[in-house]
Amino acid sequence: GEKRAIMDDTAIRRGLTRIAHEIVEKNKGIEGCVLVGIRTRGVYLARRLAEQIREIEGTPVACGELDITGYRDDRSPDGQRGAIAVPDAGGQPVPVHDKRVILVDDVLYTGRTIRAAMDALMDQGRPQSIQLAVLLDRGHRELPIRPDYVGKNVPTSKQESIRVSLQEVDGEDNVTITER
Ligand code: 5GP
Ligand code: MG
Repeated sequence: GEKRAIMDDTAIRRGLTRIAHEIVEKNKGIEGCVLVGIRTRGVYLARRLAEQIREIEGTPVACGELDITGYRDDRSPDGQRGAIAVPDAGGQPVPVHDKRVILVDDVLYTGRTIRAAMDALMDQGRPQSIQLAVLLDRGHRELPIRPDYVGKNVPTSKQESIRVSLQEVDGEDNVTITER
């Protein structure tokens, strides 16, 4: 189908820079904050935000990752799981209890992934709060979930699909929209 560009590398970089500043402003610093990226591309966006926040504030911010599909599948009947729920880049657990957790994903659509992510987090402890940062909000929510930080709002039809390419995974940074 037809393909049109909606963000280039500069737009992605600027959007993430703005979000990093907004996170620092809203939380009056970064103390007690933890970034949690949702696999796959949310993880790399979370790491980029963490790096920018470190540059802004001069202090590192914890950054973990969450695999929603893994979380569901790995679950044994007693609710325990083998893998670490929120590992950092080195595989070490990232504590979320009493933290201000900022979930990070590439695209927000129905909201069901974020709902599952919140479920997974709550099983690890009780975050003080949960905020949501997304690179793109394409609308069509089916749950009462809204992002706190948005790179770009992109009204879409349900027939359209957003393609997010990131350097770390795809070798380039850009966002395009295609008709299915
Ligand atoms: P939701 O659960 O809100 O319906 O969908 C959000 C999740 O599915 C996100 O993790 C996102 O990566 C993926 N997703 C949903 N719609 C799109 C889309 O149009 N493009 C991309 N790249 N991912 C999408
Ligand atoms: Mg995803």
